Amino acid sequence: MGEKPLKILACGDVEGSINAVFNRVRTIQKKSGQFDLLLCVGNFFGSSPGAQAEWQEYKSGAKKAPIHTYILGAASQETLRYFPSADGCELADNITYLGRRGVFTGASGLQIAYVSGREGQQDPTPAHCFSPKDLTQLVEPLISNNQFRGVDILLTSQWPRGVWQYANSPEVNTKFCGTTSISHLAYKLKPRYHFAAVEGVHYERLPYRNHVVLQENTQHVSRFIALATVNNPEKRKYLYAFNIIPMKSMEASELVKQPQDVTESPYSRMVRENTLSDPTVQEPASQFFFDLGKKQRGGGRGQGGRGRKRPSDGDGQNQGQPWDSDRQSQRLPFDLDRPKQPRRPPQPSGPCWFCLASPQVEKHLVISIGTHCYLALAKGSLTPQHVLVLPIGHYQSVVELSSEVVKELDRYKMAVRTFYKSKGQRCVLFERNYHSQHLQIQGQPAQIQRLPHSLTSLPRYKTDSPLRASLPRYRAGAEQELMEIPQHTDLKQIAPPGTPYFYVELDSGEKLFYRIQKNFPLQFGRYVHTHHI
Ligand SMILES: [Zn+2]
Repeated sequence: MGEKPLKILACGDVEGSINAVFNRVRTIQKKSGQFDLLLCVGNFFGSSPGAQAEWQEYKSGAKKAPIHTYILGAASQETLRYFPSADGCELADNITYLGRRGVFTGASGLQIAYVSGREGQQDPTPAHCFSPKDLTQLVEPLISNNQFRGVDILLTSQWPRGVWQYANSPEVNTKFCGTTSISHLAYKLKPRYHFAAVEGVHYERLPYRNHVVLQENTQHVSRFIALATVNNPEKRKYLYAFNIIPMKSMEASELVKQPQDVTESPYSRMVRENTLSDPTVQEPASQFFFDLGKKQRGGGRGQGGRGRKRPSDGDGQNQGQPWDSDRQSQRLPFDLDRPKQPRRPPQPSGPCWFCLASPQVEKHLVISIGTHCYLALAKGSLTPQHVLVLPIGHYQSVVELSSEVVKELDRYKMAVRTFYKSKGQRCVLFERNYHSQHLQIQGQPAQIQRLPHSLTSLPRYKTDSPLRASLPRYRAGAEQELMEIPQHTDLKQIAPPGTPYFYVELDSGEKLFYRIQKNFPLQFGRYVHTHHI
């Protein structure tokens, strides 16, 4: 549309260093031209005598702000006296206090929602705090409009709790950082930019989606940026410059463009599971543990199951792994020790029954969720212990996985073997990379007493081998032979990505490989177990 973008600066806690921030702005404007607005979040004023004297010069008109400056109200008791009331007003030439909460719409149509101060814990709410009512009064008029898509900018002093979920970790103690009422606010207002401060650190979260993939229309993404205190000794970033075209002037297609590194919403799961109201609530690790004693409902999982429940949206790093005792520590969603954001796996082109983030996943079958993989009971399984090991992301076959995903997959496979062994059973794992979109390693227990021989002691797949013997029932011919491959062979060496194959791993370490030609029986793996073991 050729709309000229606005040039905006956002600033963290000024804490009375007003000269410092304006000098910095002057330098920037000399270099990059005039900016339209300076938005200050956190505490603008300081309580030291020096800070008071500095402010006096602006208040008296002796000094003037070099840019239209908008500030939030007090985030502490000590600086309350700088604000004449809860209502917004001009405090000095070019310096405007926005008010306790509200929406500011500029001449350009840029919409800025804001909430001053911290979450009030008492009733009545102190003047430097906001109450639940403040948030309701801010949100309701906006979202009651059915044209409402979101606001351009949200300014808060406090951080939204849990904003780091599914993303890069901030340098704060996440156990004590932020408040869920701000998370709720951000979830509802869908700001394109959300600025916060008061934690003394700089944090730019990866952008997150405001819609559920494949369920809702694509919406614009949100960026959360927390800024440090002006002139902090660690030289953390406190000023952020960006260009923005108000969303009301943008083409929808332009507005909803998704950047490559976009993540899930950090809030949607909290809202859905209703844990947002209480930051101390953590999901119990047992949530995904399926009760093996329960009767399963039937139906072929891969073929015709219906997604009944919403799955977990996330990478589920808060879940323990029941059979994996050497995992060093359980990672909780708000812990600091989250690993770096893993490379994003490929996305499915349509609904997928096995992508953990997809709505089609049947959550009640999920047993354990790791960082890259998860374990589930097979639907319509042949035995109660028929399990699937799957990558969380959408990968078609083992040969497409990165080494770290393979590593975790191997640990799950080991856990499955150990589990079967504890039940006095042998373990057969197989993968069918043929007519399947999402990798599934199937685990089947085999009763030792029912085996004609121990699988390990079988001579090389002579015709009475249970596995090989099952083949001629479908198709005669030498080309159907399973090929034994050396134990340390990487499957990638024999099956380049795209090659259809059937692959079996026995608990003895033996590996059997079959390059699939046409008319391969899809139920082959199942057949082996029902009829021959
Ligand atoms: Zn998938």
